[in-house]
Amino acid sequence: MTPSNSASGPSESLQFARATIRDIVPYPTERTPCAADLSDNTNLFGAPPAALRELANAGPEDITRYPGLHTRRLRDALADYAGVRTEEVVTGCGSDDVIDSAVRAFAEPGELLAYSDPTFSMIPVFAKVNGLVPTPVSFTASLDIDADALLATGARVIYICSPNNPTGALPSRAAVDRVIAGASGVVILDEAYGEFTDAGRISDGPAHERLLVTRTLSKAFGMAGFRIGYATGSASLVRDIERVRGPYKENAPGERAAAAALREDVDWMREMVALAVEERERFATALRAHGFQPYPSAANFILLPVPHAARIALLMRQRGVAVRPGHL
Ligand code: PMP
Repeated sequence: MTPSNSASGPSESLQFARATIRDIVPYPTERTPCAADLSDNTNLFGAPPAALRELANAGPEDITRYPGLHTRRLRDALADYAGVRTEEVVTGCGSDDVIDSAVRAFAEPGELLAYSDPTFSMIPVFAKVNGLVPTPVSFTASLDIDADALLATGARVIYICSPNNPTGALPSRAAVDRVIAGASGVVILDEAYGEFTDAGRISDGPAHERLLVTRTLSKAFGMAGFRIGYATGSASLVRDIERVRGPYKENAPGERAAAAALREDVDWMREMVALAVEERERFATALRAHGFQPYPSAANFILLPVPHAARIALLMRQRGVAVRPGHL
C-alpha cells in the first residue's frame, strides 16, 4: 500500500521521508540583522579587498556560463596557500559540502562515523543522510580527543575538529597522530578555524594516505557568502571525493574573487586573525573578571557555560548581540 493520509486530519501528513532523517532539524540559515552578530563565527571585520575588487570586475560570463572558468585558478591558489599540489586539493560548496561528500565517498551505508562529542552539529546529520551510524565518543577530562576510544569504534570514518566547535579546544597533536596511525578508514581533520592557531596541518593532508584536512574561506578569510570550502589529501582521496561530490559546487563570481584574495590578501587575513585573537583574549579576561568561566579557546569564538542559555541568548539579542545557544 502507498502512504495515504486521506482519512486523517490536516495535522497528520504523509511520511515519505526516510525513517532515519525524520528527526533531523534543518540547519537554521536565515538571519535577521543584529547590531553584533556573533552567532556564526565569521569575520565581521570586512571582506578581503582583492575579493571586492575582483567582484566588481565580474562580467556577464560569470553569470551566463557554468562556473568553471576560474576553477583551476582557485585550485592553484588554494594549493599554493596550503603548500600542496593542485591535484591534492578538492573544493566544494563550503567545507560542509566537502565533508558530506567525503563521508559519502569513504563509507558504505551501515558503517560508522565516529567523532568526539560535542562537536560541529552537522556531523551526525552528514552521517545519517549518507546512511552511516553516528558514533559519538567522549572527550578526555582535559578536553583532548580520546584516540583509543575513537579507534575502538572501528569506524570507517573518524572526524576530528581542530580547534573544536563548540568548545574551542585544540586536540593534541599526539592524539591526532595516534588516530591517523591506527584508523582503518579515513580520518577527516576539520580545520575550519585552523587559521586562528599555529597548529594547523593543512599541508599534511597528502602526506598520509588516509588523511583529509578540510578548511574553509568562510571564517578567517571573511568570505562566507561565497560558500567555498576545500580539503587537502592524496590525489587519490581527492579523486574519490570528486566522484561523489557532483559538478559546479562553487559559484563563478566567488571562485574568481576567492582566487584573487588567496593571491593578494593573505597578509590582510593574518592581520584580521591577530585582531580576533587579541579580542578573544580581552573578552575572556573580562568574562573571568565578572565571575564567568569561559572555556579556553584556540578559535575565533568562546564557549561560555551558563544556566538557561536559550533564554540568555534571547535577552542578548534584544540588546543587539546575537550568540549561539546550545547544550553540552
Ligand atoms: N566545520 C566547522 C567546525 C564549522 O564550524 C563550520 C561552519 N559553522 C563548517 C565546518 C562549515 O563551514 P563552511 O561550509 O562555511 O565552510
